[in-house]
Amino acid sequence: MIAQRTAPLINAMPEEIIHMGTITSNILQGINTFYQPTKDRYRILVDELNFPSDIYAVKSMITSRGLNPEDALKVIRSRDGRTLDEKDVVAAMTDDVAVAWLPSVLYRSAQLLDMASVSSAGRRRGIFVGWSMAHSIGSVPHDFRHIEPDFAVWCTYKYVNAGPGANAGMFINRRHFGRKHGFQGWFGNRDATQFAMRHHYDPDVDANNWLLGTHTIFSLYPVYGALKIFEEAGIHRVREVSLQMTSYLMYLIDARLGQYGFRVGTPREDHRRGGHVACEHDEAYRISAVLREYKIIPDFREPNVIRLAPVALYNTYEEIYKVVRIMEKIAKEKIYESFSRSRATVV
Ligand SMILES: *Cc1c(COP(=O)(O)O)cnc(C)c1O
Repeated sequence: MIAQRTAPLINAMPEEIIHMGTITSNILQGINTFYQPTKDRYRILVDELNFPSDIYAVKSMITSRGLNPEDALKVIRSRDGRTLDEKDVVAAMTDDVAVAWLPSVLYRSAQLLDMASVSSAGRRRGIFVGWSMAHSIGSVPHDFRHIEPDFAVWCTYKYVNAGPGANAGMFINRRHFGRKHGFQGWFGNRDATQFAMRHHYDPDVDANNWLLGTHTIFSLYPVYGALKIFEEAGIHRVREVSLQMTSYLMYLIDARLGQYGFRVGTPREDHRRGGHVACEHDEAYRISAVLREYKIIPDFREPNVIRLAPVALYNTYEEIYKVVRIMEKIAKEKIYESFSRSRATVV
């Protein structure tokens, strides 16, 4: 039922979608399936801008095969510290790469990668391509029938708005149904024989084969509810409003905040950005702390990014304007100077 509601967000079949665990546990499940290193093809391709947990998970998979991440992890470098050049990504897809694990939208700069051209380059070179979609699902519509990735993983507590603790999702392309994978659990077993309680694993015929244990209903139900709103609004309309909002926000940052040392660190072109704006400032950490005092909750991301994510479903243009006005006041009056520079954890 939840898969049916997720399917339109990525234009995939419900049978290709499951919900369980967290992004990190689903990355392990996905990479474990596709990463079968040989002597010549044994590397996993990642980028230097991806989220730490993705990299930890990939490194764990490498060490689980008895290989050394120093050698088996191949890292694509960013030219500007903010974005990736798709040409660099494709150029890094050499014959020694077995799997590529990449972000659809970069969590800091909000750059949206050309997933179709990267996925098809991987396919032509015999590389399995998986996507980390935490920052695009629920904000950017994806056409998986055009992209045809091998697998993908996302959370539902960011742009799907299902709340903290809601389950993550996973996509397994239908061409991989029946593929053997290493981590098996009784919910991946066919329904008809699951309760026969045999010790012989009888795989389900679709993505359900990748499920592990009992459905975590308390974490799944909010996903079901959140997706109902997308069903009513339509992901394409959400994207249209989101692009207008981030475009308005970038315009205001340029016009009102440039003189106070703020810069936009997000690609300007609609087809190259996701649903948030990276506003850079040398005092980003302390300005984020002051914003909280004003009941505005941004994300601070090291070293200098204030991440602002106007939500198309419920934020207003007036709120965006107010946020910029308050940032202007904070910078102009240097209100942040009375705040500490020492880092607190996210609570
Ligand atoms: C948010 C995020 C995660 C978080 O992973 P969890 O296991 O759900 O905590 C992982 N990767 C990326 C790219 C993210 O943006």
